[in-house]
Amino acid sequence: MALIVQKFGGSSLATPGHIRRVAGTIAATRNRGDQVAVVVSAMEGETDRLLDLAQELSPEPPAREQDSLLATGEQASAALMAIALHSLGCPARSFLGLQLPLLTDGNHSRARILDLSTGLLQQALEQGIVPVVAGFQGVTADGAITTLGRGGSDTSAVALAAALKAGVCEIHTDVDGVYTADPAICPQARHLKKISYEEMLELAGLGAKVLQIRSVELAQKYQVPLLVKSSFGSNKCTWVVKEDENMESAVVSGITLDRSEAKLSVIRVPDRPGIAYRILSPLAEAAINVDMIIQNASSEGYTDFTFTLPKVDLPKARQLVEFVAREIEALEVRADNNIAKVSAVGTGMKNHPGVAARMFKALADENINIQMISTSEIRISCVIEAKYGELAVRILHEAFNLANGA
Ligand code: ADP
Ligand code: ASP
Ligand code: MG
Repeated sequence: MALIVQKFGGSSLATPGHIRRVAGTIAATRNRGDQVAVVVSAMEGETDRLLDLAQELSPEPPAREQDSLLATGEQASAALMAIALHSLGCPARSFLGLQLPLLTDGNHSRARILDLSTGLLQQALEQGIVPVVAGFQGVTADGAITTLGRGGSDTSAVALAAALKAGVCEIHTDVDGVYTADPAICPQARHLKKISYEEMLELAGLGAKVLQIRSVELAQKYQVPLLVKSSFGSNKCTWVVKEDENMESAVVSGITLDRSEAKLSVIRVPDRPGIAYRILSPLAEAAINVDMIIQNASSEGYTDFTFTLPKVDLPKARQLVEFVAREIEALEVRADNNIAKVSAVGTGMKNHPGVAARMFKALADENINIQMISTSEIRISCVIEAKYGELAVRILHEAFNLANGA
């Protein structure tokens, strides 16, 4: 008898009909003789609806209260799923993060898991009861409800699989696996049967929201095999596993698009030691993650300093940077919400020069201006104007011949 963790995303739980269908999948797995532990997201659109409600009352809701509010989305779907399972004759019990408990740090809206107690889950499993865990949520040591960042139910599922030593963590979603690009914007995207944790980490970190990056980090750390499959019936699926020698090491294995970032520029900064630190340290203190950074070559003792950060953090970051800009006597601060980051990812890049040139040429041929560039051993990212984002994905997919598995 194997233990399987099955996670269902919001689109798989859009209506009571969807929930009944998913309950059927869970009951069928259990009837085959396997043990199942379930993790659910909120019903489709629910997290956004709750966020909008909070915004109507305050432009900056207290983080603690916003997390309490958002966690209700998953609370409702866990209870609904347990009800649906009961109606199919399958004993089930819902659990909230705070009941288990799933302990996190106190970083509201982006909390990290510290510990997961499996006592209640083990007890249920031993009694033949299917535990249905509300994803995306946890609790701090002093009892505040936290959430794990958008898409965080994936991470709850992997944490559960690791703690219960499950044989596999299945992520059921609205696509039948991981593709070479988001199939919703690139119809030529090719299905991947297998992908390494390393490549999936890059894809997830650069905008492929099919898996939250933290879930892939955890899966790699605890060697949990991840299986991405469709809730809507398809024979295809993708294994996210440890890299093996049979795995194709494509020069470029995928193209991603990230529309979640904004750009801040501090113009005409006096060029002297400590400036980058002065500008960025208040952001670090406010737990704002800075991504790409460019400092222009100095001209007549002045330079421009530009970086990207999550759009949601832009208002706060702008305030902090404007304060520093006045102190260091920079000319002005410019904010730009209108950007997209397009990236090419592939472990084979390590041994193949010329990938960057090919990427720049493909964008230039379409007259797409590159505003910022960053590279690592296995990826190249370019910031471009937002309106060209989807087009750039399709162009790069074509330029690297990904539809044919080159
Ligand atoms: P869920 O609600 O099940 O968590 P998400 O919306 O978070 O689902 O993630 C699934 C979506 O991820 C797909 O609908 C797809 O458009 C998008 N996606 C982005 N990049 C990729 C990719 N490379 N492969 C597959 N899906 C991708
Ligand atoms: N409901 C949360 C979100 O919309 C968590 C998740 O879906 O994984 O981000
Ligand atoms: Mg998701």
